[in-house]
Amino acid sequence: MSAPDVAIAGGGIVGAALAALLAEAGASVRLYEREAIAAGASGRNSGVLQHPLDEALVAVHERSLALYETLGHGFAHPAEPVGALVLSDDPEPLRRECGELAARFPEVAPEWLEGAALLAAEPGVGEGLYAYRLETGRPVPPASATQAWAERARAAGAELRIGEAVEAVEVQDGRATGVRTAAGAEPAGAVALAAGPWTTRLARKMPDTFLAPTWGVNVEVRLPEPPRHVLEQAGIDGLTKGSIRVSPSGRTPATEPGPLGRCSAFSIVTAGGVSAVGSTFLPDEPDPDLAAPQVLERGARYLPALGRVGTFAARACLRPQSYDSRPLLGPHGSIEGLHLATGHGAWGISLGPGSAELVAAAILEGGEIPPELAASRV
Ligand SMILES: Cc1cc2nc3c(=O)[nH]c(=O)nc-3n(C[C@H](O)[C@H](O)[C@H](O)COP(=O)(O)OP(=O)(O)OC[C@H]3O[C@@H](n4cnc5c(N)ncnc54)[C@H](O)[C@@H]3O)c2cc1C
Repeated sequence: MSAPDVAIAGGGIVGAALAALLAEAGASVRLYEREAIAAGASGRNSGVLQHPLDEALVAVHERSLALYETLGHGFAHPAEPVGALVLSDDPEPLRRECGELAARFPEVAPEWLEGAALLAAEPGVGEGLYAYRLETGRPVPPASATQAWAERARAAGAELRIGEAVEAVEVQDGRATGVRTAAGAEPAGAVALAAGPWTTRLARKMPDTFLAPTWGVNVEVRLPEPPRHVLEQAGIDGLTKGSIRVSPSGRTPATEPGPLGRCSAFSIVTAGGVSAVGSTFLPDEPDPDLAAPQVLERGARYLPALGRVGTFAARACLRPQSYDSRPLLGPHGSIEGLHLATGHGAWGISLGPGSAELVAAAILEGGEIPPELAASRV
């Protein structure tokens, strides 16, 4: 068996897209996935392709949307966004936020909605709420993007080794020479780590504090009249970013444990008749069945129909949250031939393909990674 040009650890959205893009560019690729394609957050997310509202990430998001448009392999790309409504019962901070976003991200066309205009846009929302609408949000079934990228990688000749874990990266004289699995050392020309929150375990000389995974609980419900928009409680963005504190002495994230109330915010995304209600941002693994009623109760303030839900399915998974909420991409920094592709936190489905494209170019052509996304910044 000849050594592949690139060995990839992880079959989530990032690893699967990377395998497809590398193989289509002519590289021989072997992807190792210890469990199943989309076994982690890439199969258990809320399923919305959404603008990241971070200047450093806009280009990666736009490339991701362009790549999704032509993804094929069973992926149904929503041509138009359904819009995201950010809701609050406190109008003044919300109105300020709306104005700030209009100045920073005119492409999402923030629009203020209250009273009859809000009810016309979204008839099911609770009383006494205010909102702004963003022109973003393409709902997709949670695992569909990753499954399609994996199919596309296979079609381009990539070898997908499902059920095989990478135990370590093999390094000789400061250079990655392959991976170690249960079968022994398996040489490769280069190694890419796309193992989501588990990446730092495999990345040598990288403290695991650079990723501070947060647990998200998603509750799946079927509503007779699901909302037209993606709905989000105001402040969810701060919660995703604020769940990690950077200590003054270094980049040590300290996720704050605490009651669910302080570590959760409402969101709902509907794709294919199923609504995913989220979510929590917890440092420790929650019991999804215990957390689910609280998630629905919080949601009922914003969408009263959630108070009448009879049955639901709940699931928890880890977000690969980086210390600064931006991806860690490209050359490792101190080991030649070792590349990282992780750290997408709450927005990996919206950013993963664009990130994979940057990492593929870095591996094949020495392409530059924007400094604010470069793994070497850690
Ligand atoms: C509740 C929730 C809702 C979300 N909603 C959205 C959303 O609506 N939109 C959005 O854009 N993003 C969303 N996200 C974020 C998004 O799901 C993640 O950022 C993204 O899926 C991460 O992809 P990944 O490929 O980096 O990692 P993962 O999906 O974690 O994939 C890593 C893979 O590596 C495998 N693996 C681990 N260790 C090894 C090893 N040693 N060897 C081989 N394989 C290994 C794992 O089994 C796993 O399959 C959400 C996340 C959560 C938790």
